[in-house]
Amino acid sequence: MPELPEVETIVRELRETILNKKVWKIEELTPGAIVCGSFCSNDLKGEKIIAVLRRGKFIVLELGVSGRIVVHLRMTGRLIWGDHYINKKHMRALFTFSDGSRLFYGDVRRFGKIWICNAKEMDQLTGMIRLGVEPVGKTHGAFHFRGRKGILKNTLLRQDLIAGIGNIYADEICFRSGLHPSRRVETLNKKEMDLLKESIVYCLQEGIKNCGVSMSDFVGTRGNLGKHQKYLQIYGRAGDNCYKCQNVIEKVRIAGRGTHFCPTCQN
Ligand SMILES: [Zn+2]
Repeated sequence: MPELPEVETIVRELRETILNKKVWKIEELTPGAIVCGSFCSNDLKGEKIIAVLRRGKFIVLELGVSGRIVVHLRMTGRLIWGDHYINKKHMRALFTFSDGSRLFYGDVRRFGKIWICNAKEMDQLTGMIRLGVEPVGKTHGAFHFRGRKGILKNTLLRQDLIAGIGNIYADEICFRSGLHPSRRVETLNKKEMDLLKESIVYCLQEGIKNCGVSMSDFVGTRGNLGKHQKYLQIYGRAGDNCYKCQNVIEKVRIAGRGTHFCPTCQN
């Protein structure tokens, strides 16, 4: 599932390619792929894309007349220029621009969604209204764990607290902070909380720097692969030796998710 760094990668690529293009046509190829607010596909015809933003794992395209196109890729969504890299039967929507270029939305599992709406209703319609703090960017590190309760891994995955962290980066963050993912947040001392905060920012920024993790589904908008899978310290390494202590990395289920940790380095 694309997490903050993978979505940020797509947003940066789109900024290079989609800005100032005018929408010609938006087609829904599978019923249910597009949800319309008070605007729908035809209302945005001829409107220019003036900004591309990310909020948590949401991609937001800002258009003229306060139009918004919002995309959430969920498990297996892809936005790709041209019809490569998406099997025809998994094509869900197609954006055609006035210069003739075509951006396809494909989604094997169909959990992803596209919203077309106006600026005012966007947060409510898409559920973005419930998102917590952006951990990187302008609000960089503007979150805290004081007074929070619960299992660390669950807390990291809560989008209403910190927006954008998923399973891969949650494991990486716990490893870097030396904290067991099932540790209870209310038992963390000041030093541990500080290290945790630093690790959240660090792990996400490293992921962005390496254009995301391509282990299963994630590809960029030109079908390009991310490189961050080569740099993962703990995720996907069950049974291998820990880079820090050489002991064997374990995998258990925490927060309903496969969770990797080093029993020696994390407690
Ligand atoms: Zn270790």
